[in-house]
Amino acid sequence: MVSGPGGVGKGTIAERLLESDDRLWLSRSWTTRERRPGELEDSYVFVDRAAFQANIDAGGFLEWAEFQGNFYGTPWPDPPPGLDIVLEIDVQGARSVRAQDKDALLIFVDTPTRADQARRLRGRGDPEEAVQRRIQEGERERSRAHELDAVVVINDELDRAVDEILDVIERRRRDELEPDT
Ligand code: 5GP
Repeated sequence: MVSGPGGVGKGTIAERLLESDDRLWLSRSWTTRERRPGELEDSYVFVDRAAFQANIDAGGFLEWAEFQGNFYGTPWPDPPPGLDIVLEIDVQGARSVRAQDKDALLIFVDTPTRADQARRLRGRGDPEEAVQRRIQEGERERSRAHELDAVVVINDELDRAVDEILDVIERRRRDELEPDT
């Protein structure tokens, strides 16, 4: 699971992880949020509230959460055999997944400083009010991630951060193969 405050670059990191490790499989979430200008069409399944609610009622989500007035949900993942699932998810969603799978690894990606986070949010065109809300939400997410024993990775330099995460994943795979060593 990849979490982190808004503007930290989780989406880019998730893409890069997928490109670098062919044993990873990315789950595509559903959201009721509007697509941002320039955002890829397939970054989410964009739906209206009625469709989202219908999928909740049908038991179609592994987890879902409301985040700043919009719904986000992870459909039940169905990866090809042998692949590890990557979820880009907020920390409350991560908590819910962890409750269902205690071995789910949580990587919390953070910006080097709050000022970097604000700059990145403004840079992608978020209105100032949303920037402030996401910064505050980021503070809450940091402390919740800590409670979930997240591995914190600072996105100071994209290639370095991606390599660090790939290494954490690889070590986790080895530990699972050799639990007693
Ligand atoms: P954004 O609007 O910036 O794309 O996402 C807002 C927040 O929702 C981010 O923290 C993102 O990780 C989280 N998120 C994205 N997909 C899901 C999901 O399926 N479930 C949950 N719980 N959070 C999600």
